[in-house]
Amino acid sequence: MSWLDDPDDLEGDFEDYDESSIRTRPNPKANRPRTKRRPAHDDARIGRVLGVDRGRYSVLLDEGTDDEHTLTASRARELRRTPIVTGDQARVVGDTTGDDGTLGRIVGIVERTSLLRRSADDTDQVERVIVANADQMLVVVAAADPEPRARLVDRYLVAALDAGIRPLLVVTKTDIADPSSFLSHFDGLDLRVFTSARDEMPVDEIGAALVGHSTVFVGHSGVGKSTLVNALVPSALRATGHVNQVTGRGRHTSSSTVSLRYEGAEGTGWVIDTPGVRSFGLGHVDPENILAAFTELATIAEDCPRGCTHLPDAPDCALIEAAERGELTETGLARLDSLQRLLQTFADKAEQTPGR
Ligand code: ZN
Repeated sequence: MSWLDDPDDLEGDFEDYDESSIRTRPNPKANRPRTKRRPAHDDARIGRVLGVDRGRYSVLLDEGTDDEHTLTASRARELRRTPIVTGDQARVVGDTTGDDGTLGRIVGIVERTSLLRRSADDTDQVERVIVANADQMLVVVAAADPEPRARLVDRYLVAALDAGIRPLLVVTKTDIADPSSFLSHFDGLDLRVFTSARDEMPVDEIGAALVGHSTVFVGHSGVGKSTLVNALVPSALRATGHVNQVTGRGRHTSSSTVSLRYEGAEGTGWVIDTPGVRSFGLGHVDPENILAAFTELATIAEDCPRGCTHLPDAPDCALIEAAERGELTETGLARLDSLQRLLQTFADKAEQTPGR
């Protein structure tokens, strides 16, 4: 695997991790009446985590109001083992003015609507949290240079569907190569596709799809993802400068995951750029979540034998039998094809896992 870790992502997961925090020891004060209760933090404000930089969180408060401002916050000790990531809604106490030199403190996070995760590789059951509360994933691939690989896109799709996130696909550099044969792989999916020539990016069209959503952008280097992000969010550099300005810890590194606001004529949305995330290990994925994304096929699959893989060689698979009896439409057949390809991604993974 050629993935490299985003240092901030790692930090979000493991920073402050400390064995001693799980050690138990007798408490000599156990029988004394409690004189001091843990603060309930009723005064906590809730804000959006825009980014993480070496243990300091950039949090947006009063979003969308005249009082909107960004502040820098640390994490309370009791959250030391809780990953806090871009997109989280954090509960913040302390100095929340965001004035120079001030530091708020995150004391909790609001329950997430979605959680995009990955494993280090396919055999790794340890999952890393990448982004919280995203509802769309925009996968960027190039029509050529580098050559697009359907299986790579499949892996992104599996990660998205597993997280309950709607995938979108952008094919760049379509002036170099015709993407239609590559795109035919995805015929059976509910996948909105945008095509983009190098000097003619459909910024308005893609932008319109971002309004009212939180969209995580993924793609390998060289596909033009950064160019697209910069075209959609021209203020990106200014927006990401804040954390560093406050902490004085140098320039924004291009490897950290950040939330950037898209501001279009039709409204606003959030672009979550993931420069450090180069691939998705799928060690934690549940294939049931993939099937669930194919609603009508999932209904048919209820008649499958227990543990059915739904792959072409699966005995007594209700999906395959329905296809053989001619009960699936042409679209249905294409969707079954896509589903089987995504499930194959998972099966390939399982083969590499010892003991499975
Ligand atoms: Zn089946």
